Amino acid sequence: MKLATRFIHAGAHPDPSTGAIMTPIYQTSTYVQEAPGVNKGFEYARSQNPTRFALEEAVAEIENGKFGLVFGSGVAATDSVMKLLQPGDEVIAANDMYGGTYRLFTKVYEKFGIRFHYVNMQDAENIRPYINEKTQLIWTETPTNPLMNITDIAAVAAISKEHNLVLCVDNTFASPYLQNPLDLGADIVMHSATKYLGGHSDVIQGCLVMNDQDLRDQLYFIQKSCGAVPGPMDCFLVLRGIKTLHVRMERHCENGERIAHWLRNHPKVGKVYWPGFSDHPNHHIAKAQMRGFGGMISFELKNDSVEEARRVLSSTKLFSLAESLGGVESLINHPASMTHASIPREERIKNGLSDSLIRLSVGIEDADDLIEDLNQAIG
Ligand SMILES: *Cc1c(COP(=O)(O)O)cnc(C)c1O
Repeated sequence: MKLATRFIHAGAHPDPSTGAIMTPIYQTSTYVQEAPGVNKGFEYARSQNPTRFALEEAVAEIENGKFGLVFGSGVAATDSVMKLLQPGDEVIAANDMYGGTYRLFTKVYEKFGIRFHYVNMQDAENIRPYINEKTQLIWTETPTNPLMNITDIAAVAAISKEHNLVLCVDNTFASPYLQNPLDLGADIVMHSATKYLGGHSDVIQGCLVMNDQDLRDQLYFIQKSCGAVPGPMDCFLVLRGIKTLHVRMERHCENGERIAHWLRNHPKVGKVYWPGFSDHPNHHIAKAQMRGFGGMISFELKNDSVEEARRVLSSTKLFSLAESLGGVESLINHPASMTHASIPREERIKNGLSDSLIRLSVGIEDADDLIEDLNQAIG
């Protein structure tokens, strides 16, 4: 089945009680049992909810995985993966990743005795020196936020398999329409469904997809034991979002491409970060593992000052100044003071995230209007 058809039909079955074509929002906490222990497979909604189950089936299907699990947020999904670990275990994580993931690792899990090594994964071989008998998990993200670095998922997966580790890939930026890490050898795919899956900036949610039954059972146990489940209304919204993911992503990619090239030719714009440029350091890998390059773009201004960046950020009219990404409307963001403020400045600068870097989440409006807006803001 072709992708467009799969995205529309993923997880969709007529509701058994009425035939409703859309899975209803089962807004209930519990289910009436016929006799003690005799029920329809539904006992209590932290463990089972039909709307959530439909979404879990849908996310698994669109990531080419066997099992999906959804959580109350992207970080709750990440948190559940971390709970697979024990004190003393070690994790190798990408050095350029979502600030909230870094915060969870350093501020929450270090104190439980988990050790993290942050590695530049643009060359997968950089991982090897950090592997030892305590290593359990590799955590990576590609394209990275906000510098659009590309990690070769298949190369990292090969190293991970050699040492029997679990590889988890945060696939939020690419979305399942552009990239499928399980097909490239990853063990778990994580998404902040808040972003492209939901697609309309109206929900906070996360998900995990995997093929291994044992891993699924462990993560399901964590999901119900720790309880970070999303409500049925939120599941409904993401189910609806997924139905248009393919058409939205196509437009995000088209608009992203036009704006990336336009920015690059602007006299006041310095470096532009977008994996679709043929001179992007890992463009060949992006081209091989992605179906398109997406609508996330970062750039610096030639006048590399925080003041100038602030002026541009406050001058756009269509691009709204806000955290988050992946919605139909365009957003503009200042990573150093917003999404990545939880990473210490020295650490940010060391990883190439300058104070004047501006990140765009290019929406699906008309590209001419978006360019006109950026043009008047950059001046
Ligand atoms: C937003 C985001 C997260 C966290 O997801 P929430 O839904 O905000 O909890 C994780 N990774 C990436 C790449 C993100 O953009």
